[in-house]
Amino acid sequence: MTKLKVGIYGITGCAGCQLSVIFNEDELLDLIEVVDLKAFPFIKEVNPDEQYDLIFLEGLVADKGDLEAAKKLRKNAKILVALGACAVTGCVPAYRNFTLKQNYEHLLYRKIRELQDVQPTPVDMHVRVDYYLPGCPPDKRQILAFIKGAVKGAIPRPTDNPVCVECRQNGNACLLEIGKPCLGPITAGGCNAVCVNGGLECWGCRGPTKDMNLPLMISLLKRKGFDEKFIQDRMRTFAGLKLPMLKEVLHGKNHHA
Ligand code: SF4
Ligand code: SF4
Ligand code: SF4
Repeated sequence: MTKLKVGIYGITGCAGCQLSVIFNEDELLDLIEVVDLKAFPFIKEVNPDEQYDLIFLEGLVADKGDLEAAKKLRKNAKILVALGACAVTGCVPAYRNFTLKQNYEHLLYRKIRELQDVQPTPVDMHVRVDYYLPGCPPDKRQILAFIKGAVKGAIPRPTDNPVCVECRQNGNACLLEIGKPCLGPITAGGCNAVCVNGGLECWGCRGPTKDMNLPLMISLLKRKGFDEKFIQDRMRTFAGLKLPMLKEVLHGKNHHA
C-alpha cells in the first residue's frame, strides 16, 4: 500500500498547533505503515521540497516570507489544510488590523520591526485552502481523525453546530445565564466545549458558524450589560477578519434581532 505522504509546516504562529500534532505521538507511530510523515521542519532537519498528498499549514500570512512559503506549499500539496485559528481566521496576530501601529510597535523585537510586512491575514486570503481545522490550538484528536480519514479517503466533515450543542450535551450550566460573555452561540463547535467544561466562557477561537445570528448575539450581550467596545474587542480577538459586518451590526445599522 502506498503511504500517505504528509507535511506539517508553520508560518507566523506560536507553534501550538504543531505541538497539537506532536501530542498524537503514540497514535501517529501506530500509523507508520500507512502514513509517511515526510516533512515537519519544527522537529525534522530534512524536509524535501516536493509533492505531498497532504500538507497542514499552521500560522497566518504576516510577512513576505510567509506569503512565499504559503504559495510554495500550495503548489506542493494535493490537499492543503489550514491548521489552527491563525491559519483559518487570523486569530490574535491579525488583531493588528484593528489597532493603531503605536499600540503594538513597542512590543515588537527590533528584528521583526525591520521585516517587510504583509497585512496579517488568514491563509485562504492568499492561496486556495482545501480543508480547515480551526481552534487555538485545534484538538489533537481532531487532527488525528483528519489524518486517519485521509488515509481511508473519507475525511470527516466539520460540524455545523455551534459550541452550545456540545456544551449542553456535556451538562454544563450556561455561563451566559450568569452574565458571562460566552460566544458559544455563534462559534463553530467541534472542540467539545472544552473552555466551558473548565468554567471559562467561549472566546470564539474556532471562528463563526456559517449561519450565526450576529445581531441576536450582540443584542443578548448588550442586555447582559456589555458595552459596544467590549463586545467588539471580544469578537475581534480570534475572528475579527471573519466578521466584516461587526461594526455595522454593533451600531444597529443591520439589526434583525
Ligand atoms: S492558532 Fe493558536 S496555537 Fe495555533 S499557532 Fe495560532 S496562536 Fe498558536
Ligand atoms: S455556556 Fe456558552 S457555550 Fe455553553 S450553552 Fe451557554 S452560551 Fe452556549
Ligand atoms: S470553547 Fe470556544 S474558545 Fe474554547 S476551544 Fe471551543 S471554540 Fe475555542
